[in-house]
Amino acid sequence: MEKTKFAAVSDAATEKCVIEEAGRILKEGGLVAFPTETVYGLGGDALCKESSKKIYAAKGRPSDNPLIVHICKWEDIYKITSEIPPEAEKLAKAFWPGPLTMILKKSDVVPPETTGGLMTVAVRMPEHKIALALIEAGGGYVAAPSANTSGRPSPTTAEHVKEDLDGKIDMILDGGSVGIGLESTIVDLTEGVPTILRPGYITQEMLESALKTDVKIDRTLLDADCGQAPKAPGMKYRHYAPSGALTIVSGEHKKVTETIARLAGEKAQAGEKVGVICTDETKALYQADCIESVGARKDEEAIARHLYAILRRFDDEHVTCIYSEAFSDKGIGQAIMNRLLKAAGHHVLYV
Ligand code: AMP
Ligand code: MG
Repeated sequence: MEKTKFAAVSDAATEKCVIEEAGRILKEGGLVAFPTETVYGLGGDALCKESSKKIYAAKGRPSDNPLIVHICKWEDIYKITSEIPPEAEKLAKAFWPGPLTMILKKSDVVPPETTGGLMTVAVRMPEHKIALALIEAGGGYVAAPSANTSGRPSPTTAEHVKEDLDGKIDMILDGGSVGIGLESTIVDLTEGVPTILRPGYITQEMLESALKTDVKIDRTLLDADCGQAPKAPGMKYRHYAPSGALTIVSGEHKKVTETIARLAGEKAQAGEKVGVICTDETKALYQADCIESVGARKDEEAIARHLYAILRRFDDEHVTCIYSEAFSDKGIGQAIMNRLLKAAGHHVLYV
């Protein structure tokens, strides 16, 4: 790879010619990073095994960690799947385009390189103008994991993508900051009761109300020590980890802030560079090298939107030790706490 082309997609005129060029790159087997409503994705032709291999190489991603195939219209789903259960149609009607990925039985046109060797395929239709136009221009089937180096937080701006993948991919489309900030909800529809393999913006309650049936949550999400392998292969890796050691402090509000303030002071004394993840309401209570508020505690959408950029900032500042307040695990809070717990390697201090 010689140079990564960086293209801002700001107005309709530039958009048309940039998307055409990016679509051509995908059709020729190249890689293009693009914004979606969840996080930035690293796109390649999902039906071409060489493109999928390039995605794994650029990200440094283990090849048994399957990719999500992105489509831009419902009819396109038939070519890549061998069975569409009625739940898939109901969920697509309710949530597509949007931050929901469905696991379905794959057809023979999807190469095993794209699905990490699995007989199932993950499919999503994103809700983002640039993403949808690119998928269409690129031939209709775009494999796109998050556009980060494996092990770093998912990118929520084009700058984050550049930090990780400059010189390793053909093009980056800059569509500004993303709206949601956490990866899509993944629901498995291949075995009996629909099962959430990764929590996201679309919650269990939302899925249950669209389907009018029960939806399960994969046991490994609720109990990290249950000894069972997660059904979504990606969930077994310690993703999204900042380089500093992250501890979540959970418990009664006042005790949490007092504990973090005390520990931050002790670590600073011991020569560590300390970061704190807090909220607008508690920011003034701490003293540390790097204090980052995720927003107002009640504004869970803001917490989701800001979390990954904050983890990246701590890496940039070479913070060695991080304390985070725990957040509510209701609704989208479940996705927030899932990502935070993974970043912390499930290191929680209960006070
Ligand atoms: P990313 O796009 O980087 O968020 O990663 C996609 C994630 O989707 C992977 O890490 C897997 O955990 C999950 N996934 C993709 N395809 C499948 C599949 N066929 N079965 C179960 N999980 C999948
Ligand atoms: Mg990812």
